[in-house]
Amino acid sequence: MAQTTPSLRTMLEALVSAPSVSCVDPALDQSNRAVIDLLADWLDAAGFRTRPMEIPGRPGKLNLVATLGAGPGGLVLAGHTDTVPYDASRWSHDPFRLTEDGGRLYGLGTSDMKTFLAIAIEAARGLATKDLTRPLVILATADEESSMSGARALAQAGRPLGRYAVIGEPTGLRPVRLQKGVMGEAVHLVGRTGHASDPSLGCNALDGMQEVMGDILVWREELGGRYKHPAFAVQTPTVNLGHIHGGDNPNRICGECELHLDLRLLPGMRAEDLRSELAARVAAISGRRGLEWRVEPLFASIPPAETPAGSAIVEAGEALTGHRAGAVNFGTEAPFFNELGMETLVMGPGDVAQAHQPDEYLEAARIPPTLELLRGLIRRFCQ
Ligand SMILES: [Zn+2]
Repeated sequence: MAQTTPSLRTMLEALVSAPSVSCVDPALDQSNRAVIDLLADWLDAAGFRTRPMEIPGRPGKLNLVATLGAGPGGLVLAGHTDTVPYDASRWSHDPFRLTEDGGRLYGLGTSDMKTFLAIAIEAARGLATKDLTRPLVILATADEESSMSGARALAQAGRPLGRYAVIGEPTGLRPVRLQKGVMGEAVHLVGRTGHASDPSLGCNALDGMQEVMGDILVWREELGGRYKHPAFAVQTPTVNLGHIHGGDNPNRICGECELHLDLRLLPGMRAEDLRSELAARVAAISGRRGLEWRVEPLFASIPPAETPAGSAIVEAGEALTGHRAGAVNFGTEAPFFNELGMETLVMGPGDVAQAHQPDEYLEAARIPPTLELLRGLIRRFCQ
């Protein structure tokens, strides 16, 4: 165990050097234990009570809850410990070595978002329990980039960690209080193959799917008329037809066809409702055509999230940055934190344009204002 917390620079280097890819492809998926162990050592040395939490059903994956101070209320500074997979051949820097070049700190997870955890520890440097009237929690989660199993496990455990939370996802230090939810759904149709020369010999799944697709485009228009939120750049829910596969040969009647869709939900919409609407439409068309059908999730959906504009954490984020809290079209762990009763703001030093890209970097100049911002939040919510 470390005796003293190392310098911020040393922490940043160590976090980038500890691989922690999470991926739905088991061949690429890695444990995040190395990152959790580093954070636990540093936070122990800083006087926090650290509690690693194994994720049920996900061996080698852990969250870490580190607490300074006690009592109700308080502030959670949260970040995910995992990164997306990388393609080393497209990087001109070593993804696992923090490299400073032209004012940029290059490395996998610099922008999205291991660095935030080190900056949060740095912001708390020197604080002791006696300095706090409400607890400060540093929370590190697993699997944000894949299944969100870490945040889901916390929501399942049902114990709120604080009254307010800030997730340091890359927003260019702008506060975000609204996000869309994300669903991926598969529509599967099964008909009957037969020789192409006589349609009565089979039941064509591709014919059925083109009708389903036409109907989904009608449904998309309806959804756009039913739901609108002016805070989002794309103000309506979206439905994207992203993948299709069916049949094998032009001279055979297509026996099976599968379509994958991406749906982005506005706050107030529920994945279950959309899935049953979609299923009802697919069922109607399939029934008429004598096709078997299934509608199934491609992954567990991420709900939309909305933290009220009047929440103290939103007001504090706006006051400290000088920016109005906005909205993003991508999913974060915020809905799971909201579910736990924590009013959550998304705000971090990276830029989403650099996230999930080769040569991911963080502008070094973003670090001092982030420290300033986090210290301001700690003063406001814990002291
Ligand atoms: Zn992220």
